[in-house]
Amino acid sequence: MNKPLILVVEDDAPVRNLITTTLKTNDYRYLVASNGETAILEAASHNPDIVLLDLGLPDMDGVQVIKNIRSWSNLPIIVISARSEDSDKIEALDEGADDYLTKPFSVEELLARLRVTQRRLAFMNADRLAASSVFVNGRLRVDYSSGYASLDGRELHLTPIEYKLLCLLSRHVGKVLTHTFLTQNIWGRSWENDTASLRVFMATLRKKLESEPDSPQYIQTHIGVGYRMMKIE
Ligand code: CA
Repeated sequence: MNKPLILVVEDDAPVRNLITTTLKTNDYRYLVASNGETAILEAASHNPDIVLLDLGLPDMDGVQVIKNIRSWSNLPIIVISARSEDSDKIEALDEGADDYLTKPFSVEELLARLRVTQRRLAFMNADRLAASSVFVNGRLRVDYSSGYASLDGRELHLTPIEYKLLCLLSRHVGKVLTHTFLTQNIWGRSWENDTASLRVFMATLRKKLESEPDSPQYIQTHIGVGYRMMKIE
């Protein structure tokens, strides 16, 4: 299994160093951000497994970061708050944070929180896989076991790469998938010209999937970042 990737959002350098040192010595990979804007960018472009988020950030309230991430992803967020920020912590959980740590916290506490979150994530993924050999989203239906995709009950005639793209997007519905993630999953590598090919295949897939390609209902473009399949209510 790959080492989990943790995004550490903390403006206080000593605390940040304590966290990253702990992560490094316990077999995690990590990214760091010292303000909200960088945190949102890093989260969107690297799809970390877990976000550790300090609520008191220099440029914006940590709750704003949660709201932003929750608008496109369910990735687990563990909030780090000082005792004086108790009401913020509640607001953070209401906005979709998964768990919290109160400063000062011990290294053991941090590791325990991460383990709990990882376990929950593993259960959720196992459930989803077991329950989801058929994906339905609005008029779109993908049967992964038979490799059959249809729109309004009519078969979608897709090339193998278009089908692969559709599967990747649907399996991560609601989540922004970066160009690198997509090209690596399709071609096993990520070169600059792969991103150009990706754009071409995405355009042909959209033509088959979207009734109005100019105002796409299913696949949203995040310029410079990637694509996401929208969940249709
Ligand atoms: Ca802080």
